[in-house]
Amino acid sequence: MNITKLEKFLGENGQPKFRLEQLKKAIFKEAVASFSEISTLSKDLRDELEKEMKILSFSVEKVLVAKDKKSMKALLKLNDGNLIETVLLSPLENTWSVCVSSQVGCPLGCEFCSTGRSGFKRNLTAEEITDQVLFWKQWLKNNFEFKIKNYDVSKVVYMGMGEPFLNWEQVKKSLTDLTDPKLFGFGARSLSVSTAGIPEGIAKMAEDFPQINLALSLHFGVDEKRSACMPINRQYDLTELREALQKYFKLSNRQVFLEYVMLDGINDSQKDAEALARFVKSIGKLQLLHINLIRYNATDAKFKASSKEHTLKLKNYLLDQNLSVTIRKSLGEEIQGACGQLAA
Ligand code: SAH
Ligand code: SF4
Repeated sequence: MNITKLEKFLGENGQPKFRLEQLKKAIFKEAVASFSEISTLSKDLRDELEKEMKILSFSVEKVLVAKDKKSMKALLKLNDGNLIETVLLSPLENTWSVCVSSQVGCPLGCEFCSTGRSGFKRNLTAEEITDQVLFWKQWLKNNFEFKIKNYDVSKVVYMGMGEPFLNWEQVKKSLTDLTDPKLFGFGARSLSVSTAGIPEGIAKMAEDFPQINLALSLHFGVDEKRSACMPINRQYDLTELREALQKYFKLSNRQVFLEYVMLDGINDSQKDAEALARFVKSIGKLQLLHINLIRYNATDAKFKASSKEHTLKLKNYLLDQNLSVTIRKSLGEEIQGACGQLAA
């Protein structure tokens, strides 16, 4: 929802000051899907608003719901015709996390990621980012057949299409709106931003949002392998990422999540585990680093997911090294809405 446009419209139509607050409440807290639902407004004003503007900055092409109803994916058509995807996940009973896209496609081209393989079109605006959350709030509200008691979104993760730190100005504005008590009102701790490793972005997060969670898609503990699968590592290698995290911890006391996608025969051997442990220990601040082992979700790339045995072995080695690690449950694979499968 374009608040600036709404405010301007209300001003030009001689509406009293409180009207804006009334509309914000209806749109962001009550998640109305259209102006005509806001019964506290006069019929004339509702009609005018319907004619002048839309609540969402895209149209919804399709919503896919997994059989267990714990993950859904929506295909959204932006005003310029570009398509993006957004995912809603319920990792815990009555907890709904929205996974937002920050770009149409992604320029970083990680080998194992279908977004990366589909190329890059453009950055999303802050409005296009936050509207993904607004859309799911509306959707949850209007889908009571799922008998969802607590139907509101409680977390937002920037883990959809795109690299958030290559679109920082708009991502920053979207984070500001998501934490604005008059708009979405999320606590900073309910938000997470994931990066493939852009030191400048990590520094800006520490400065601007030290309470928002940071995830780093590490995936490899040695440069040679990381560069082979993640081209961004040729620009910013592990030494630079280590320094970026060390600086981050000077400003933020939040735990950082190190994401590690388990690729069969690529990064899941004992040697890989040792390299990972060495790198993580070299950062220091071990109590603030948590490794998430992620299942690889099939894309059309040449990779295969590691076996359960290899994953457990790697996990146990890291535990023996006194590192904090969990195997993350993958949701949404059936609807191709899991990490790395978003390709519109
Ligand atoms: N560009 C950012 C955020 C979006 S990707 C980043 O890379 O961090 C969200 C997460 O999904 C990242 O950790 C990414 O590495 C991971 N991912 C990409 N492809 C995947 C796949 N095929 N299976 C599992 N995870 C994948
Ligand atoms: Fe882009 Fe992240 Fe996919 Fe890499 S993993 S291509 S950075 S979206």
